[in-house]
Amino acid sequence: MSEDMIPLGINDPMEFGCGAENPCFNECCRDLNQALTPYDILRMKKALKISSHSFLREYTSMHIGPETGLPVVEFKPNPATGHACPFVTEKGCSVYEDRPGSCRLYPLARAIARDRATGEIREYFALIKEDHCKGFGKKEGRTVGKWLEGQHVGDHNRQNDKLMELISLKNQIMPGRLEGAESDIFYLALYNLDEFRDKIQNQGLLKDLVLPRDFAEKIAADDTALLDFGIAWVKHRLFGRELRF
Ligand code: SF4
Ligand code: SF4
Repeated sequence: MSEDMIPLGINDPMEFGCGAENPCFNECCRDLNQALTPYDILRMKKALKISSHSFLREYTSMHIGPETGLPVVEFKPNPATGHACPFVTEKGCSVYEDRPGSCRLYPLARAIARDRATGEIREYFALIKEDHCKGFGKKEGRTVGKWLEGQHVGDHNRQNDKLMELISLKNQIMPGRLEGAESDIFYLALYNLDEFRDKIQNQGLLKDLVLPRDFAEKIAADDTALLDFGIAWVKHRLFGRELRF
């Protein structure tokens, strides 16, 4: 598969159109090798009304990054379907409203860097031109920014940026490979949120911490608040950062 990356600015024209009328419809949902973020999993398991544990077991596989020791979660490969996504159907994506951030961005790739002077996050985009995708060249009068708005990718980007910040902290403080128990902490607190909640509520995971009552109620009811707490707890447990409620 040939692939080109073309840098684009937020105000550049996005000459691209995707839909069932394209001969390549659904082709981008096959032959997957797609890492899923904690927020991707949160959204899809909620949409399917199943626990994170069930979602991870049913739909994903996990391996440990050989150099980082970080867990890498992907859709479970299924050779019988040509490694198609478990959620692709003839009519398109069956979890469309809750599809992963990378599916929303495609055919764009997004990278971020924090400005050292202001602390602001800067975004960089590139168009990924792959042979199978036939949506290029459609002049629909949209800029990259307008196209991104239509993908409703803001919540995913905000949450995924928190993950990138955590990984950047890990790389500064522990540039080598995490130990097995440390990888387990990452996986539990970020990817397996319902198990993390159960360990907090019923198995004394945080017995040495006094959680303010309103905070305990918030993370009991709100998965996104629990994920934010999971990121903060990993920073505290593994990298010595202060935990604030
Ligand atoms: S989640 Fe939806 S959009 Fe993403 S690869 Fe699967 S079917 Fe395609
Ligand atoms: S291959 Fe490209 S144009 Fe075709 S359905 Fe996927 S994103 Fe849309």
